[in-house]
Amino acid sequence: MKREDFAILKERVHGRELVYLDNAATSQKPQAVIDAISEAYTHWNSNIHRGVHHLSQVATSKHEEARQKVADFIGAKSSDEIIFTKGTTDSLNALAFSFGEAFIGEGDEIIVSGLEHHSNIVPWQMLCERKKAVLRHIPLREDLSLDIEAFKGFLSARTKLVSVAHVSNVLGTIQPIEEIIRLAHAQGVPVCIDGAQSVPHMQVNVQALDCDFLAFSGHKMYGPTGIGVLYGKREWLEKLPPHEGGGEMINHVRWSGTTYNELPYKFEAGTPNFVGSYALSKAIDYIQALGWEAIEAHERELTEYCEAQLSAIEGVHIYAEHQPKAGVISFNIFTNHQSPITTHQSLLHPFDIGTLLDQQGVAVRTGHHCAEPLIDSLGVPGTVRVSFGLYNDKADIDAFIAALKKAIMMLS
Ligand code: PLP
Repeated sequence: MKREDFAILKERVHGRELVYLDNAATSQKPQAVIDAISEAYTHWNSNIHRGVHHLSQVATSKHEEARQKVADFIGAKSSDEIIFTKGTTDSLNALAFSFGEAFIGEGDEIIVSGLEHHSNIVPWQMLCERKKAVLRHIPLREDLSLDIEAFKGFLSARTKLVSVAHVSNVLGTIQPIEEIIRLAHAQGVPVCIDGAQSVPHMQVNVQALDCDFLAFSGHKMYGPTGIGVLYGKREWLEKLPPHEGGGEMINHVRWSGTTYNELPYKFEAGTPNFVGSYALSKAIDYIQALGWEAIEAHERELTEYCEAQLSAIEGVHIYAEHQPKAGVISFNIFTNHQSPITTHQSLLHPFDIGTLLDQQGVAVRTGHHCAEPLIDSLGVPGTVRVSFGLYNDKADIDAFIAALKKAIMMLS
């Protein structure tokens, strides 16, 4: 994989070479994406959709070509099913509000899972509070997989929507979303997939999955910040009301009332992030030029290599060890403390580990990873999380493991 396309990897941190293993939080950007942003502002910046002049028409066609590129990238039937948002959080909030207005009433139920990011919990909690509905979560089994039998038991005539993460941002585990979608659809219940951690790491095809909605963020897939996507099946999007009002999303505004624009503009109030969409399309080009097969094989190899190195270190506990993962590993370190009477295990605090790694130039994430309910169920204050991107290599992992051993020595 091409490290030289990512200038930031040459940065030095605390006098050391940067080892960037925080890709699940945000990925770095290839030069093509950085150049696209500069190109847009240098050559064709202009507000889109409204202008008859040349620059506006260029900007409009770049934005709409990007929409088509995203549609093709995730296998959507039509670019009308692609709504540009600020990111996964924005997509899920938009859906929760809009779907909630149309379809949720008192006593209705929404199902998420026990390993969700706060973005796929809080918007639904807010909706349930507004509508006096009920939020249920699929519990986790001991091996941290979803309890599908419990999920089957939850599905009922009261269930109005299921929303689950494809890949856990804490554990890296891949959820059985095909089965969840099949079971929910058998009861006529639509399914939203939080693809924030899957779309950057594997081919996700919405028609093959048959999911009803998919949310993801540009910045986690080598694109810019501030752009994301909400995919929705046309038949659903047509039934949903807009979640925000303003310019672009209207057909006509009269004092007597407003009529709304057609898809997808009905859900894109205000000036869209057309520079972001263009740069995102360049990130998609970048991924497609490398090819999913190569990216997935590379990241699988890195994950397995790292997991093997980690598990050889005394006291390391890897969560969901040996389960297939998409570029994310979470772990903690427990050390034995001996007193004259007992031996007890104590946790090396993830924050301390993260700080000592940072001092050696290694960027990892520590804490609850915006998934407090999952972390609570693990019975720890947080974890250390390493996450890979297509530019990481085995040398990064070797550097991380060496730095981790030093950190453990210093803290033990
Ligand atoms: N869902 C998952 C699984 C995530 O990992 C994240 C971010 O880490 C989000 C949602 C929120 O993404 P964003 O902050 O880009 O909106």
